[in-house]
Amino acid sequence: MKEFDVVVIGGGPGGYVAAIRAAQLGFSTACIERWIGEDGNPALGGTCLNVGCIPSKALLDSSHHISFLKHEAKEHGINSSGITVDVHKMIKRKSGIVKTLTQGISGLFKKNNIEWLQGSGKLITNTQIEITPIHNKAEAYTVSAENIILATGSVPFNIPPAPVDNDMIVDSTGALKFTGVPRRLGIIGAGVIGLELGSVWSRLGSEVVILEALDEFLPSVDRQIATSAEKILRKQGLEIRLGTKVTGTGSNNREVTVIYEADGEKQQISFDKLIVAVGRKPNTDGLGAEQAGLELDQRGFIIVDENCKTNLENVYAIGDVVRGPMLAHKASEEGVAVAERIAGKPGHINYDVIPWVIYTWPEIAWVGKTEQALKQEGIEYQSGSFPFLASGRARALGTTEGMVKVLSDARTDRILGVHILGPGASELIAEAVVTMEFEGSAEDLARTIHGHPTLSEVVHEAALAVDNRAIHF
Ligand code: FAD
Ligand code: AMP
Repeated sequence: MKEFDVVVIGGGPGGYVAAIRAAQLGFSTACIERWIGEDGNPALGGTCLNVGCIPSKALLDSSHHISFLKHEAKEHGINSSGITVDVHKMIKRKSGIVKTLTQGISGLFKKNNIEWLQGSGKLITNTQIEITPIHNKAEAYTVSAENIILATGSVPFNIPPAPVDNDMIVDSTGALKFTGVPRRLGIIGAGVIGLELGSVWSRLGSEVVILEALDEFLPSVDRQIATSAEKILRKQGLEIRLGTKVTGTGSNNREVTVIYEADGEKQQISFDKLIVAVGRKPNTDGLGAEQAGLELDQRGFIIVDENCKTNLENVYAIGDVVRGPMLAHKASEEGVAVAERIAGKPGHINYDVIPWVIYTWPEIAWVGKTEQALKQEGIEYQSGSFPFLASGRARALGTTEGMVKVLSDARTDRILGVHILGPGASELIAEAVVTMEFEGSAEDLARTIHGHPTLSEVVHEAALAVDNRAIHF
C-alpha cells in the first residue's frame, strides 16, 4: 500500500492549492480527483476551473465586448454596425481557456512532485482511503495517509419543481454550453450565479426573465448598492421578478413552462430554456462519511472547527464542503492554512475580510460589514461615498454608473466595510481588503496617494468623504 504524508480528496481551488502548499512544505503529497473534462479526459481544477469562476468569466468578458459594440461603441466614434455573434466560437474559446488552465494545474502537480490519483476517493478510516478509477476499468486500491484533507466541494442544488434534464432545463453547467442563443430564457434564482449567467445571455440577445422567491434583491449586499444595481440591471434588459416562487415546470421539446406564485396568485410563463440557479450544496457523495464516522451537519456540510479540523483525528476539511462562503479564494486560503497547520505553523485566515464579487457590468464588490448589518448590531459608524460619475477615468472609459462607499468606526475610524458598484470593482476591492487586513482606517486610505487618472481615485475620494473632505464632488 502506498503511503503519503498528506492526501487531499478533491482537486478544486481548495484541494489543489492545499496539495501544492503541502508539497512546498516538504510533505509527500497525493491528490485524488475524479473530474472528467469536456474532452473526456481526467481534469484537475474542480468546479472553479471547469464549470464555475473561469468559464463564466470567459463568457462574461466575451459578451461584454458585444454589449460595448452594440450600445457604447458609437459614442466613441466607432461604427460597429453589422456585427454578428458566433456562439460556437465563443463557447470554444471558453473551453480552450478551461483546458489551458486545468492542464496548468497538472503541470504544477508535476513540478511539485504531487501524485494525482485519478478516481473517486472514499474514506475507509482516518488514515486509509480507497480509490476507484472512473475513467478506466482499473481495480480499486487503497492508500494510507498520515493527514487527510477533504476538499470535495459542492454541486448545484436541485429543486423538485424544476428537475434538470440538461436539455430544456439546465443548471449552471448546462448554461455555460448552450449551442445557440435562446430567444426567451428563464432563470430561477437572482443570486450571484443567476445574475452572471443572465447577463451573459441577455447581452447575447436573449430576453431574460429572472424569477426570485425573495422580495428583496441581493439581501446580503449593502442596500444602497443593491438598489442601484437592481435599477441598472433592469435598465440593461434583465427582467427581475422578485417575490416569485417557482412551484412547478413542464416541458416539451419546444418550450418549458414555469408555474409560480406571485402576489398570492398562481401564474405561468414559458421559455425556450430554463436555468436553475438556486444555490449549491456540499458534495459528500461517495465519500464514505458514514462508514468512517465523519460528522456532517443537517445540510450535509462536513463539521469543522475554526482550524478546519473534523471530528476524526488528522482529518481536515476545507472549501465549499464546509461552513462559510462558497468562494474559490476562501477554499484556497483554507487549503494553505491547513497545510501550514499540519506542518506545525500558525496557518492564518481572517474570515471577516473575505471579498465578494458579482461580475455583472458594472461589477459589484464588497468586503466587511454592510450598513444594514452595522445598524442591526448597534455599531456606531461613519460613512463616505463617491460616485464614478465624478471620476475622470470613468468618464474616459464611458462607464460612470455606480459608487464606492467606505464605512468606518465612528470612534476609531477603523474601516468596517467597503462597497463598490462600478467598473473594475473586482480589482478595486483588493485595496480595501489589504487596508482592512492591516486594520487600517479611512484616514489611512485618504492619506495614501492614488495614481491619476485611475478608477482607484474613486476609492480614495470615498475615504476622504468619510471626513467630509472629498475634493471632486
Ligand atoms: P470544487 O471546486 O467544487 O472542487 C471539488 C472537487 O472535488 C471536484 O473537482 C470534484 O470532482 C472533486 N471530488 C468530489 N468528491 C470526490 C471524491 N470522492 N473523490 C475524488 N474527487 C472528488 N467563486 C469565486 O470565488 N468567484 C467566482 O467568480 C465564482 N464563480 C462561479 C461561477 C459558477 C457558475 C459556479 C458554479 C461557481 C462559482 N464560484 C465562484 C464558486 C467556486 O467555483 C467554488 O467556491 C469553488 O470551486 C470551491 O472550491 P472547492 O475546492 O471547495 O470545491
Ligand atoms: P444563491 O444562493 O446566491 O445562489 O441564490 C439562489 C437564489 O435562488 C436565492 O436567492 C433563492 O431565494 C432563490 N430560489 C430558491 N428556490 C427558489 C424558487 N423555487 N423560486 C424562485 N427562487 C428561488
